Amino acid sequence: MATLHLHATAEAVEAEWRRALAAGGIVELGLGRATARELVEAAATAAPGAVGAQLRLGPIGERLVVDVVAEGAAKDPGSTLGAIATSRGLRKSLGRIFGALGRVDVGPGELQRAALDVGGIAGAHAREIAARLAAYHKHLAGGGLADEAAWWRAGCRAIAEGAPVPMLADVDVVETHDLVEWDGAMLRLLDALLARGLAVRVVVPAVAELMPSAARALGPLHAALEARHDAHRLERVEAPLPRAGAIDYTLAPTPSAEARHVAERVRDLVDAGVAPETIAVCAATPERRARLETALGRYGVPVAARRPPSAVEAPPVRIALELLALADDGVPRERFIQLITSRYVAGAAEGKNGLVLPHEIAAALRQAYVTDATGRGYADGLAAWARGQFRNVLGSGKAQTICEHVDWLVQLIQSLPAEATVERHAARLRVVLEKLKLFEKARGFRKDRSSTEVGLDETRAIARDQAAMRELDVALADLPRAAARAGLRATKLTRGRFSRLLGELLASSRARAGGVRGAAVELGDFAGLAGRRVAHLFACGLVDGEVPARPPEDPLLGDDERTALNRALGGNVLPLAARAIDQAALAFWVALGAADAAHLSWTSGNEDGAPLLRSPLVEELDPPKSVVVRLARDPIPRLAHARTVDEATARVVLEVRGDRASRLSAADVEAAALLPAIARHDPPRLGRLEHLVAVERQRHRFFVGDVEAHGYVGALRDGELLAALAGAKLPGRREDALSATSVEAYAACPFKFFLRNVLRVGELEEVDDEIDHRTLGRLYHDVLEQLFSRLGKEGRFPIVIDEAVIDLADEVCDDVIAEWRRTEPLGHPALFAVEERRLRERVQAVLRTEADNVPAEGCMPAHFERAFGPLPFGDVWVRGKIDRIDVGVGRAMVLDYKTGGKKGLAEQAKDDALCVTSWQLPIYAAAARVELGLSSVEASFYSLREAALTRAVREPADFEDKLSALHARMRAGDFAVRPVEEACERCGMEAACRVRQLKRAEDA
Ligand code: SF4
Repeated sequence: MATLHLHATAEAVEAEWRRALAAGGIVELGLGRATARELVEAAATAAPGAVGAQLRLGPIGERLVVDVVAEGAAKDPGSTLGAIATSRGLRKSLGRIFGALGRVDVGPGELQRAALDVGGIAGAHAREIAARLAAYHKHLAGGGLADEAAWWRAGCRAIAEGAPVPMLADVDVVETHDLVEWDGAMLRLLDALLARGLAVRVVVPAVAELMPSAARALGPLHAALEARHDAHRLERVEAPLPRAGAIDYTLAPTPSAEARHVAERVRDLVDAGVAPETIAVCAATPERRARLETALGRYGVPVAARRPPSAVEAPPVRIALELLALADDGVPRERFIQLITSRYVAGAAEGKNGLVLPHEIAAALRQAYVTDATGRGYADGLAAWARGQFRNVLGSGKAQTICEHVDWLVQLIQSLPAEATVERHAARLRVVLEKLKLFEKARGFRKDRSSTEVGLDETRAIARDQAAMRELDVALADLPRAAARAGLRATKLTRGRFSRLLGELLASSRARAGGVRGAAVELGDFAGLAGRRVAHLFACGLVDGEVPARPPEDPLLGDDERTALNRALGGNVLPLAARAIDQAALAFWVALGAADAAHLSWTSGNEDGAPLLRSPLVEELDPPKSVVVRLARDPIPRLAHARTVDEATARVVLEVRGDRASRLSAADVEAAALLPAIARHDPPRLGRLEHLVAVERQRHRFFVGDVEAHGYVGALRDGELLAALAGAKLPGRREDALSATSVEAYAACPFKFFLRNVLRVGELEEVDDEIDHRTLGRLYHDVLEQLFSRLGKEGRFPIVIDEAVIDLADEVCDDVIAEWRRTEPLGHPALFAVEERRLRERVQAVLRTEADNVPAEGCMPAHFERAFGPLPFGDVWVRGKIDRIDVGVGRAMVLDYKTGGKKGLAEQAKDDALCVTSWQLPIYAAAARVELGLSSVEASFYSLREAALTRAVREPADFEDKLSALHARMRAGDFAVRPVEEACERCGMEAACRVRQLKRAEDA
């Protein structure tokens, strides 16, 4: 008398075989033990007539046919699914519902009848689904195709009819283990086994000993067995659910602290001789598992992930799908930039003037204010931008390369057909991916990196990418084959539909990166431990809502509707989301029983500090407070917990060199004693760390005012360097004079000046659709220069407002803006239209103000955008350009146009700001005095926003001395990080300055 044991998973079957082999037994693969699916598959295969002459459609083909059916709903004006017909959710739901109905042989007719019984919204939805199911069946029948559900039914039929199935030869008893979710399909199998005359023993956990959450999960199974009370050969066997011999509990502050702690304990167990394969680390969510995998990897623990991430999560696969979406959305600029700057794409361009890097192309696209490939497109905007680059030869060469390259890339993306057969879509996408070198780049071999430079994390990422790209490659080959099999070879799909299909397919394929199996710690979910035993179980992330988790309800048929339909159909046909909670709870208890020792952990908050509650399953265990280990919030592990040299070194250096007074945690006494050992282990490294510590200490002392500026905060002290600087680099010389703005930059923060004017660091500018304020300022200057020149030439000073003056102002605005449109980036046309209207209004307001009150009594506008210098003031040479000078008898008024409001400008014109933080007006006044040979020159800011002047100021008497003193500080190498109030807010050098970054971190 032989018994066939049915298990929940293939891993459980394998575990039993291992146990048998270890005990000296003999294992015949394919006999004695199997999963339910394997049994049905074997039966359907062994009875070739079971599905008649039908061709097996396969899962990909099913998706294609469901897609066609769902598309029919979109086109059917009477369909209630019309609103969601194009959503991915509908297709998934339909696929799952068709499968569940099909496995228990519920056709459109039965569903229609159930819909009538149920009535209401559930009935209406069910009728709609029945119509789609009829279309689905019609398609299968027309093509002579059998789906997976038909295959299941055929297998069950073959079993019931006594077909010769090798797996069931000589079998009298079938015993099920850890199978607790008996849906309609499983019950069909049970009935088939009974019909074959076999005795069936269903082994279930003994309810009396179960936690309430687990007992609930078994309710439907008990009911199903009860309903078959007349089946004499059916037996329910209750087996006590074991409980781990030892359970400990840990409360961690964050998921990363939990992951580190678990990794530490696993590492210790492995070091103590526990075989890695007897340790399981379980968590319910992919995010938590990923964090655990990283932590284990960092401690050098070999890990075998039971559920590798889906292929669609790998960056190169996401890029491939994004290409289709880009083509659909008109290649929007920022997403296009993301694409070309990705390391997986050949985004650089090789032109006559050398290589143009992706970030240069990105900057050009932003400066050109192009937004997407629709409407004006990229070509026009880039051409206008390129005309502005013709000032220098290299720039113009690069501009041409950029224009050509962007054109090529956009055309390449748009060559993905808007509508085509699956075969054509797949073939074209492959061509585009190859031209972008995605396959090549995802392989991770880069000419500029040696293999020793590639770290462990990167190696893992490369392995993941390669595995995912293999899946993509297979999917692009499988989809056309499946379409042909499903009779959809000539059917045309939109790009969006093809993208959705490919995405779904890749979401269900696992990017299994190979690597260790066997002597490795298993990382998976709780359900994977059913029917197996491990020495240690680390059950992680036991927080409310995560374990057990309730999956979202089906968007097409909610649980209430399913319950009503199941009742009408007379069985547990459509699975319920609510049941998944009970199943997850049972899976947890089963896993807990599978371990000799269980280590349970949860977190009091998420990574961002939001509080979390522990799982109700832990509440059921109700551990006393005293046994729960609470982990401290220690970003750097204490020495006793350090498991890598890096961690030990960090802790030792923190203890020995850290600022004890500013720390809250207790001293780690052991760590200090380890310094000599760390020094011996890696002397150069400790030297580097000691140096960094000393540097940081010195910086801190400067910022708290204990010491003068020094080299680590921007003060240069090397005599040779200073001499070289003063001789050739530092502005303020005749051949490289200082501008008023650079003097102000120094006054605002010497370090900012050093970066900008000595090192010539470029500002990191984020360009968006609005014209940037500097470009806008130049436009105002240009308009006012031309307008006042024309007014002067036409003898219209003093200004009298009449139609001719207003017309002239309009004409000048028209001319300047037309020229700027040709050569300058002006932002999005709609947004610039707003700025243009504002400009015209402000220009007229300026004219009206001046018609009422001239800026300086007795002076007429005479000079516009007048360049001056280089002029010496003491030993400092200065140059610049003055926006406007109104000249009268023996006197003049300098006007400096500003687009801002008057209030802020008035602050800069105060006496205590002049020649301290505010240098523009004094410098311009002094320059005009010298250049025009006048004794009395005043200067004023002109707020164009308010058409108002600030008070007029004169050059202070000690102007030269103050300028010389400021320059002397520059020559002495004082470039310390010493910002005046609010200087950091508008610095523009944030990316190169830690002060700003630290301030941001503090503010956050
Ligand atoms: S961010 Fe502040 S401290 Fe840093 S360079 Fe700019 S102004 Fe100076």
